[in-house]
Amino acid sequence: MIERVDVLVCGGGPTGLLAGLGLARQGISVAVIEKCQKSEQAKFGRASLLYPRTMELLDQVDVWEHMAEIAHISRGYVNYNGGKRLISGTYHSIFNQLHGTYFDYVVNIRQKYSEEIFRKALEEKGGSFYEQYELLSIVQDDDAADDYALTVRVKNNATGEEHQVKCKYLVGADGKNSAVRQLSEIAFVGDDTGIKWFRMDAVVKTDMPDARVGMASIESPIYGHVLWMCQDHGRTRIGFSLPPKLADRFGTDVTEAQVREAAQEAVAPFSLEFEKVDWWTLYSVGQRVAETFRRKRVFLAGDACHSHSSGAGQGMNAGAQDALNLSWKLGGFLKGWYDESVLDTYEEERRPEAQRIIDQDKTLSALITGKIPEGVGRPGATSFEVLGDFIASTMRYTLGLDVHYETNLLNQKANIGLVSAGWPGPDVLLRRPGSRISLRLHQVTKNVGRFHVLVFTGNPALTGESLRSLRSYMDSEDSFTHKLPDIFNFLTIIPGDAPQSDHYLGISRFGKAFYDSDMSAACKYGFSAALGGVVVLRPDGILGYSGELGEGKELGEYFLRFVKASLESPQEPIAKKVAEIESKPTGEVEFDGETTETKPVANGVNGVHADTQTSIPIREGPTETSVAA
Ligand SMILES: Cc1cc2nc3c(=O)[nH]c(=O)nc-3n(C[C@H](O)[C@H](O)[C@H](O)COP(=O)(O)OP(=O)(O)OC[C@H]3O[C@@H](n4cnc5c(N)ncnc54)[C@H](O)[C@@H]3O)c2cc1C
Repeated sequence: MIERVDVLVCGGGPTGLLAGLGLARQGISVAVIEKCQKSEQAKFGRASLLYPRTMELLDQVDVWEHMAEIAHISRGYVNYNGGKRLISGTYHSIFNQLHGTYFDYVVNIRQKYSEEIFRKALEEKGGSFYEQYELLSIVQDDDAADDYALTVRVKNNATGEEHQVKCKYLVGADGKNSAVRQLSEIAFVGDDTGIKWFRMDAVVKTDMPDARVGMASIESPIYGHVLWMCQDHGRTRIGFSLPPKLADRFGTDVTEAQVREAAQEAVAPFSLEFEKVDWWTLYSVGQRVAETFRRKRVFLAGDACHSHSSGAGQGMNAGAQDALNLSWKLGGFLKGWYDESVLDTYEEERRPEAQRIIDQDKTLSALITGKIPEGVGRPGATSFEVLGDFIASTMRYTLGLDVHYETNLLNQKANIGLVSAGWPGPDVLLRRPGSRISLRLHQVTKNVGRFHVLVFTGNPALTGESLRSLRSYMDSEDSFTHKLPDIFNFLTIIPGDAPQSDHYLGISRFGKAFYDSDMSAACKYGFSAALGGVVVLRPDGILGYSGELGEGKELGEYFLRFVKASLESPQEPIAKKVAEIESKPTGEVEFDGETTETKPVANGVNGVHADTQTSIPIREGPTETSVAA
């Protein structure tokens, strides 16, 4: 067992594994401990339904393509009442509202398979995973001589041996009964609803038409809204509530035979036969949020700090958002890049989202159970109709496409453009120089803890002055890229197509050049050919800043608010990098016979991007999985 690690993550569920992966991708020393033997836990079903924004985030950390191999991809929905197909209903709105993302579908993949993929990715990136190690206690020493101020006692549940692990930070991703939360004396505020729901994953046979289209629902006179979702490996998730009037029938020791029988009643008049039941549960719905997501060096994430029904399938989706919001901030802070105030933005951003899910869940869980809460819905409407309306009104949020953060240290007001600071930067199609095939922006802005600076050049015949001004600021000693650590990935996005970017722009490009052949990318971000603009995407893809093309100083001010010149100054490795670049014959570009010097500068912001110099030792840059040739 490891004795010392920078970040210890307690809990090897989806949130803990993704937090660990996010940190490991930045080269942070991280270990995840998990009290159970996951192979035995395999029978546990739980999270299944994942939404587009989650897929975007998972794609940014290179796990999505593995999940897509296994997941059931749903692009269709059917709803039945009394055996008749309806053209509206609960999930109808999903597919109407799925726009603005290239992940224009929902998927079902059981938590066990997601976790397997996350664990493998964590270990491949150098993170450690310790199974059957349970956290027992935490001691926080504010006067510790070194930075390893936390001492965590863990027990190996296989051997009974106890160990001590020293760490700088602890992430409690240990589920709704979180030991980390309780040991840190953080209250979990909320209530039990008294609502109980059945969920089962099984291989079934049915005469319900279009049963494998993806998502389905059945409006049952006994069990209310019945959920039917196609999953990986030919499984089906069936879910329905336990009506209070039937509570006595099931008692406290519910058996699988009773659950099968209830499911058959719930999907009536359609038939239901079970070939295999993998997992079932009857669980009580609680709605709680932790009073804080951080106590000194301890952070909470996922179910450890918010818990609600699975009605909208939000738990793991929200846990992934927590993990990938926290990990780049904590990773960068540990590298000495950021002021500590960056860590405060984790709670500032994620706690209101957890509260919003819970507020919505109060109405949703009641409606799914067949009760219309006071003041909800139109007069005379059935609970099914009100449920359909409610789901439609909250669907963009449920899909994750409406999740956004307020203006704060990291999300400055967007000065120009169509996307507000705090919102996810839309994925758009671009082309590499010479390529006939488009690739997605998100493929070249992966989450490795670096900020992506997109320079939309506009038409250089109209924006030439602004472009030259930005270039000259970037090359000057005042440029933030000379003062701050190497945390920037620059992209130059040029409308149309050109034989050579520097020649076309009249300046050397910033980072790598991409073409926006029909200007759809610039339009999506709201930049005209006449003005262009600059956008900063945070490592998690959230838009942090947008400004005018010539405003290099303002762009620098955005970063100078929270990025600090690191103590182990970036100057040394960058100076080395520059020296190496300068020794190469790449510092010149020829424009119509005239030789123009493209003086190599730090951070790869000039035309000769450091990433292209294979012999130069650089920090890990964004990786691309399926780049068009
Ligand atoms: C029936 C059901 C259906 C659901 N369906 C969906 C869905 O479709 N979509 C969705 O997004 N969400 C769904 N959810 C919610 C989802 O399962 C959770 O939100 C998600 O599992 C939370 O992940 P987590 O990693 O935060 O916590 P968990 O998955 O609970 O993982 C916590 C881990 O920590 C470990 N642990 C606990 N204490 C310790 C300790 N002291 N030391 C070491 N390890 C410890 C546990 O063994 C566990 O593996 C569903 C939940 C239920 C109950």
